[in-house]
Amino acid sequence: KEIYDKKEKMERIALMGGTFDPIHHGHLVIAEQIRCEYHLDKVVFIPAGIPPHKSNLQVADAKHRYFMTLLATVTNPYFEVSKIEIEDDQVSYTIHTIKKLKKIYPENTELYFITGADAICDLDTWKDVKELLHLCNFIAATRPGLESPLIDEKIEELQSKYEAKIRKMDVPALAISSTDIRRRRKAGQSIKYLVPEPVEYYIYKNGLYR
Ligand code: ATP
Ligand code: MG
Repeated sequence: KEIYDKKEKMERIALMGGTFDPIHHGHLVIAEQIRCEYHLDKVVFIPAGIPPHKSNLQVADAKHRYFMTLLATVTNPYFEVSKIEIEDDQVSYTIHTIKKLKKIYPENTELYFITGADAICDLDTWKDVKELLHLCNFIAATRPGLESPLIDEKIEELQSKYEAKIRKMDVPALAISSTDIRRRRKAGQSIKYLVPEPVEYYIYKNGLYR
């Protein structure tokens, strides 16, 4: 009976893709807020191997981005990190990742995908976006720099174009970005408290973003 119950229990799993170059408190806050609001069983962080929109820019080694993501999430029992994209030598398209994960998770798993509002604004350029929107429930977290009415407008446009529901969630505003952290490091400015402390020290130890 117990085994039967376990098998039947539907899990709600959220995936959060990103370059995480480096992971920062903005990522962690939205993941945790959405996890609580949607009663998710776990959030899986998926560092991109070769990010489609950034492949021509300089991105830190996947190994470093993976380790930093592990360090940042280790104290949250509901957070996990997946190697699925960094172990692949192809460009990381979310649609491919989700299809692979769907085969691994039990069939009744309810999948969510967490993004920031800026990602919603260029969702139209993602591979097989229509199918993607139907494979998982998208939740877009607000992000400073993007006005809420603008996000609503974009969401409405996508919803009618792809006949898919996208949810928006207001999270405590954190105007933190990886770009700004890398810029600060280059300029010799402090990054303290923008990233979790172990990530900060990992960056120093490995001489990243100098
Ligand atoms: P970069 O500046 O290099 O693009 P980033 O800070 O945007 O880095 P990504 O790894 O590109 O981080 O983002 C992964 C996901 O997290 C994206 O969906 C992005 O919108 C979201 N995100 C990142 N930072 C924030 C933030 N401060 N608030 C809300 N969402 C965020
Ligand atoms: Mg980004």
